[in-house]
Amino acid sequence: MIAPEAPTPTQVALKGLCPRCGSKTLFKGWTQFADRCGVCGLDLSSFNVGDGPAAFLTLIIGAVIVALAITVELSFSPPFWVHIILWIPLTAVAVVASLRAAKGALISLEFRNAAAEGRIKDQ
Ligand SMILES: [Zn+2]
Repeated sequence: MIAPEAPTPTQVALKGLCPRCGSKTLFKGWTQFADRCGVCGLDLSSFNVGDGPAAFLTLIIGAVIVALAITVELSFSPPFWVHIILWIPLTAVAVVASLRAAKGALISLEFRNAAAEGRIKDQ
């Protein structure tokens, strides 16, 4: 049962909140989950969001960055170093920011729906 004070998946995604108590304890690094919530003790290591967020974000962000780079090249024809100083940092920031949000949303949904690996029911 989800407590009424539990944050929504959007709040978890945008603020890095614990999906059970809403404390800002979800991440211990830029994109790495903490092992356990320091406030309510929720075992965050038991959840597995896998590589799903990284795969989707790589494709989506890659497509957006390439489209922007092509647009800038065709519109302004800047020197090559302009592309380097524009797109490498922008890609890094976009990946880290969106990976945090996507991982937060997925762990929140796993928690709310009690998602786990499939098991064959004993008869
Ligand atoms: Zn917590």
